[in-house]
Parts: sequence; structure tokens; C-alpha cells
Amino acid sequence: MSRLVLATSNAGKLAELQPLLAPAGFELVTQGALGVGDAIEDGLTFLENALIKARHASAATGLPALGDDSGLVVDALGGAPGLYSARYAGVHGDSAANNAKLLGEMEGLVGARRRAHFYCVLVLLRHFDDPQPLVAEGVWPGQVLEAARGSGGFGYDPVFFVPGYGLSAAELEPGLKNRISHRGLALARLRERLAEL
Ligand code: IMP
Repeated sequence: MSRLVLATSNAGKLAELQPLLAPAGFELVTQGALGVGDAIEDGLTFLENALIKARHASAATGLPALGDDSGLVVDALGGAPGLYSARYAGVHGDSAANNAKLLGEMEGLVGARRRAHFYCVLVLLRHFDDPQPLVAEGVWPGQVLEAARGSGGFGYDPVFFVPGYGLSAAELEPGLKNRISHRGLALARLRERLAEL
């Protein structure tokens, strides 16, 4: 088993990714557990930020590293909240404020103008200067509701309507959300890429 550092301090992400990466021979450890602080995410795309995070973690630990980045993209808002999803309303991680701001910005928009998607990208660097990182993306299309619904999930889940299920992401059973979401799709693709190696 080789150790792989996760470019996050989030234990939830560790629990989600460990079973996926164990069959590929990786034992995961978060950068937080190794005393590594957060990278400065100053990229202009999700992909750049995931790569910045992975490279920061690999440089600090000398281990292969996995970085991820994700967010909600609304076409009618020019792609916002996008890269700034976690701090759309100003305070990092204030989901209630972020959702309130989003609903306010979208007031009066109807039909196709409420279309949105979640996006996730995962980047695996086998070593610090790996010139060919493994990259896996996932896109989850939906619509922004006019009011929050449901109490599960996190972030924008209560205002994200999932066509086909007729529910908000916060009303989905968590196992189902993990399978069909942007993150679930990116993880499945990463597993395929690892299997090809
Ligand atoms: P990060 O990639 O973990 O930094 O997430 C960025 C931000 O995007 C989160 O703080 C949420 O606001 C939003 N986000 C990403 N994935 C989801 C999701 O599955 N549900 C709801 N919000 C999400």
C-alpha cells in the first residue's frame, strides 16, 4: 500500500475516498493529519485550483496527492457562484447566506434561466512534478429552486432541484446523492483512470 495525501483537512472526504482508492493500492491520509495547512487557491478555474491544492500537498509531504475542487455554476449568472461557491455571500462556508444571496440574484428568472450544474474535478499527482496528472471531472445538471427545500446534504443542496427525481439535493437519500452527484461521477471516472494504469 502506498500512502496518498488528500489535499484537505476534511475527514468526511477521507471517509468517502478511502474505499474507492484502497483497491488501487492507496492508503489515504489528509494533509491536515500531517500538519500541512491550506494552499492559496488563486487559480481561475476549478482545474487549476485542484492542481494547486494537490501540488501544495505533494510538495509539503513528498507523497502522491489528490486535490479536488467543486462548486455550483449558474449560466444566467455568468457562471457564478462558480469558483467562489463556498464564500459567495462573503463568509466562507455560510451556506444560509450563500443560498439567500443566490435566490435573491435569481429573483424573476424563470424556466431555462434557472438552469445550473454542480461541477467537480479531481486531480491525482503521482509525485510533485508529475507532468501527466490523472484528471477526472463530474457534472450534475439541475435547476435552482425558488425557495429552499429539505434538510439533508450541505451547501447549495436545499436550493438545487434534481430533475428526474423531483426532489432537491437536500431531499435525496445521501447514498443516492453520492452516486449521482458531480462528486460521485468524478470519483467513478477517477477509478476508471486508475484501473487503466
Ligand atoms: P469544495 O470543493 O469542497 O471547496 O466546495 C466548494 C463549495 O461548493 C462548497 O462549499 C459548497 O458551497 C459548494 N458545493 C460543492 N459541492 C456541493 C454539493 O454537493 N452540494 C452543495 N454544495 C456544494
